[in-house]
Amino acid sequence: MIFALIIVGLLWMLQIVFMNSFYETMKIKEITKIGNNLVDMYKTDDFQEELISLSFKQGIVINIIDQYGNLIYPLDIFDIIKQPKLNEKLFNDFLSKLYLSDKNYVAYVVEDERLDESTIVYGAILENEEGSNYFLYINSMLQPVDSTTKILKNQLLIVTLISLVLSFGLSLIISKKLSKPIERITNLSRELALGNYDIEFDNGEYTEIDNLANTLNIATKELSKSEELRRDFLANVTHDLKTPLTVIKSYSELIRDISGKDDIKREKNISVIIEETDKLSKLVDDLLELTKLQAGLSQLNLEVFDLSELAENVVNRFKYFIEEQEYKIVIDKSGDTKVYADKAKIEQVIYNLINNAINYTLEDKLISIKVEEDNENVILSVTDRGQGIEQDEINYIWERYYRSGKSHIREKSGSGIGLSMVKSIIIAHGGEYGVESEIGKGSKFYFKIKRNTNYKD
Ligand code: ADP
Repeated sequence: MIFALIIVGLLWMLQIVFMNSFYETMKIKEITKIGNNLVDMYKTDDFQEELISLSFKQGIVINIIDQYGNLIYPLDIFDIIKQPKLNEKLFNDFLSKLYLSDKNYVAYVVEDERLDESTIVYGAILENEEGSNYFLYINSMLQPVDSTTKILKNQLLIVTLISLVLSFGLSLIISKKLSKPIERITNLSRELALGNYDIEFDNGEYTEIDNLANTLNIATKELSKSEELRRDFLANVTHDLKTPLTVIKSYSELIRDISGKDDIKREKNISVIIEETDKLSKLVDDLLELTKLQAGLSQLNLEVFDLSELAENVVNRFKYFIEEQEYKIVIDKSGDTKVYADKAKIEQVIYNLINNAINYTLEDKLISIKVEEDNENVILSVTDRGQGIEQDEINYIWERYYRSGKSHIREKSGSGIGLSMVKSIIIAHGGEYGVESEIGKGSKFYFKIKRNTNYKD
């Protein structure tokens, strides 16, 4: 509405306040142009004809006078006797203005006392043959603009009213279609900030608002997912911390109350306590390590080593499963598999992948590891023939604390941090990671890191 008012205000100023001076300037310009044209034409054959035609067409009075103010043109038959002369005051005024002017013409407005009207006077010097001066003297009435201004005023009043109504209507529509949805989104976002994830941002009538609503809906979904993950993690970790603690407590009590004096039993109970304590500290270590990795605080100790050799070492750590539980782990190596990386961290990655393969494998206990050269990179993959992963879960398994809802084949102390550790370590190395999986057939987890191309044997 302010904008509409400014535009209408400008129109009022131009059309009404400045109308008179604008009209006057335009008129003076017009007459000056005609006068200057006539001065140029003086002494040509068409001059007289042009004088007559212009007086008729433009409704102006064109005179030629001599230096005493006597009318030279137009003269009719009686004028020879009458000798018409320009009013002395007007003539003197005209002459002084003309001689003071630095141009060879003047144009100005005079109040005609007889007619009570304003007229425009144009005057210029015309050289005559005898060497004395003749003057071109043009008179044009300044039509009063008051009546025009009155009409304009009325029109502008209507325009003002219409534009105010229109702008009011427009602002209503804009507020309804633009501001209201944004206001609604803002209120809902506030609820989101307070932790209410059950909200739905509805679309507005503009693409931009639709996009905003959709993005916020996605954000809400992700937030609620991570909230769910956080809750699951808390439940998992509490459970994983609580279980060993309960075992430790009950075995300690057992030693205190019963087996304290029986060496063999005591040794057995103590080793259970040690085992559970190890599990606990491993869990705490993992959590700390992951937190450090994700905060980017963990430094990489880079060195050159052979990835397939490292994989063999890791496999040896699963000797118990191979010897006691009939797991089969095969390693297949091809090409130059030396890398420049943090050995301890990559060892952790391989360990986590093999550990998962064992945990999620079914009766088919074959796990194959492939280490191969691929241009600038070395790829290591761990393939199992286990249960596989649902497609809608595949993007989430890399997230911290995510554990699939399905029951695990083996009782496991994992807390859903194994794969997020893999992800963080590989990202820190500037590598790539991924998984291909099919339900019921198994999964292939892989990572790719830079081959050590500078290294010479
Ligand atoms: P955890 O194994 O402790 O649950 P991870 O981060 O290692 O946590 O794995 C996250 C989830 O990814 C697992 O809960 C499981 O659902 C899925 N997953 C990981 N590895 C495999 C695999 N080899 N086969 C099938 N599912 C897997």
